[in-house]
Amino acid sequence: MNILDIIDKKKSGKELLKEEIDFFINGYVKDEITDYQAAALIMAIFLNGMTKEETTNLTIAMAKSGDVLDLSKIGKIIVDKHSTGGVGDKVSMILLPIVSSLGVPVAKMSGRGLGFTGGTVDKLESIPGYRTNIEMNEFVDNVKKIGISMIAQTLNLAPADKKIYSLRDSISCVESIPLIASSIMSKKIASGADKIVLDVTVGKGAFMQSLEKARELSNEMIEIGKIANRETICVLTSMDEPLGIAVGNNLEVIEAINFLKGIQMEEDVKDVVFELGAYMIKLSGLGDDLEDNKERMYNNIINGKAFEKFLELVKNQGGDISYIEDVEKFEKSRFIEPVYLGKDGYITQINAKEIGIVARDIGAGRIKKEDDIDESVGIIFNKKVGDFINKEEPICYLHINNENIIESTQERIKNIVLVENTKPEKTNTIIEIIK
Ligand code: URA
Repeated sequence: MNILDIIDKKKSGKELLKEEIDFFINGYVKDEITDYQAAALIMAIFLNGMTKEETTNLTIAMAKSGDVLDLSKIGKIIVDKHSTGGVGDKVSMILLPIVSSLGVPVAKMSGRGLGFTGGTVDKLESIPGYRTNIEMNEFVDNVKKIGISMIAQTLNLAPADKKIYSLRDSISCVESIPLIASSIMSKKIASGADKIVLDVTVGKGAFMQSLEKARELSNEMIEIGKIANRETICVLTSMDEPLGIAVGNNLEVIEAINFLKGIQMEEDVKDVVFELGAYMIKLSGLGDDLEDNKERMYNNIINGKAFEKFLELVKNQGGDISYIEDVEKFEKSRFIEPVYLGKDGYITQINAKEIGIVARDIGAGRIKKEDDIDESVGIIFNKKVGDFINKEEPICYLHINNENIIESTQERIKNIVLVENTKPEKTNTIIEIIK
């Protein structure tokens, strides 16, 4: 078998055999297949798609490309959560301490930013001292000890996904159903989850722009879950405008902290957090009544237990909790500039993808995988879609370090936000649940 024949086969739209997929994954992880050969095959998959069987075989091969974690030592059902990606998505940092405070064990591995979307690991690393790269034993011990650990995908866990994930990003091959489904499910299988709750984002700031595609992706992941004996539930959520008010690393951490303290809870963030959490609690066997689960989550915000759990998590990972206790301590960008739209009316659109690209361009994300992240830059919105805005009010504040691009960035944001005379119809953040 050789990689050129495999590339040729997929290039001409034929179905790959299990052995061919295994050959590619094993060879790529061992560096016997080069990045440019892998890129050619990934592009062929991107263009020609994969059958359900190929996607399942790819998932299993990627899951087995490194260690497969055994979390049975924890002695409880492990329910994992993952999102297909979004802009302003700080859900994991809020949701996971809340459910952990209710007894759901959380052993979470997150990714870095991909394309125009942000990544939880980059955000957590903006907390000084927070270690996202800890040994597997410490990870498991942390979950046993305090009920929660949130770290980066380690070298040994689905290493094939790690390589393919950044390759896809650098060759513009992210938005593909078989590639996303296998990427997410391989990680979840390798990370030892018994059950999985997936936030499948839909809309302008998501990899799946239509409901139809999001349903297709969901069904594919549920199918893989069945084959791998991991019950999977997909919550389809709207990602047309950025989630919440902050886009950018430490700005999103601050929004998450304010949510956990009950100081500011944006409606759309609340909807996603409570819906996913209600299912996580249910799958953990800790409560079948979804509404009751949501109420218990809310109570743990009000009584401070969820915030306490976040403090405990940060402390346990080596983070400086004085930043969590006083968010004023987080590094601020050199310039904080308002953006005015110059007209009155209702906001009808804030395109999340375009905002994600602006945030990336001012340093909140990466263009090349080696790029450093600027933790303090980003955008804080003052208004959301459906709100009325008058000329004197800023739509948002730009947190930026590069003086030379302030005006052009303000101009870009002004062109992204649409304002009209009639109030747009309210849309639901939770679109549907697929089981
Ligand atoms: N999240 C992942 O983990 N993988 C993808 O391909 C997209 C989003």
